[in-house]
Amino acid sequence: MTGESTDEVRIIAIDGPAGAGKSTVGRAVAARLGVDYLDTGAMYRAVTFAVLRRAVDPNDKQAVEDVAMTMDLDIGDVDGATRVVVDGEDATVAIRGREVTGAVSAVAANSAVRAELVERQRSWVTAHSGGVVEGRDIGSVVFPDADLKLYVTASPRVRAERRVAEIGGDVDDVEASIIERDRKDSGRDDSPLVEASGSTLVDTTGLSIEEVVEHVLGML
Ligand code: C5P
Repeated sequence: MTGESTDEVRIIAIDGPAGAGKSTVGRAVAARLGVDYLDTGAMYRAVTFAVLRRAVDPNDKQAVEDVAMTMDLDIGDVDGATRVVVDGEDATVAIRGREVTGAVSAVAANSAVRAELVERQRSWVTAHSGGVVEGRDIGSVVFPDADLKLYVTASPRVRAERRVAEIGGDVDDVEASIIERDRKDSGRDDSPLVEASGSTLVDTTGLSIEEVVEHVLGML
């Protein structure tokens, strides 16, 4: 960390694969520090929701870009959860559903979509005077100079088990879908999921959320 002033802009970047516990950890760390939290995955999910709503093919680059440029996206925090409104429709629940989850990696591989959302993410941080920002490319691309960069991960099996405990489903199916999404997110050309240089690896396998949060706060 740089400086001791409490009103300086501080950015904590949290990246990692699907279901590693980034959101839970990010939210808890933000709450303990009294700063705001941004779930950038929800933004990519929101664009995907709009794409599906408008019956656009997620692989049609130009059509997906047009959706990203024309959609109305409102993302905010309500009672400690991310609330997403797309073109006036509350999409908070739908963006976590199977349909959006299955198509989001294709939409997130679209460079025009990424450019638009990265700009919004930087504006959000300016407007909120810093915060905890979570995603896949936050420490590598969006905020390479963040004060703290974390790469949060856990074994695919543990990630799948946690997901199933939260929202149900079959562990083998969920694990397969997590592995497939990681493969797409790590293999894309634009801003792939990587451990950013200067980031600290946090393996949450076998750790409770409380233990991870204390560990992270101890790094500040
Ligand atoms: O974090 P979450 O699993 O909700 O993210 C959904 C998807 O959004 C990821 O699988 C990835 O394709 C995309 N994403 C991204 N860059 C980010 C955040 C999410 O490409 N910064």
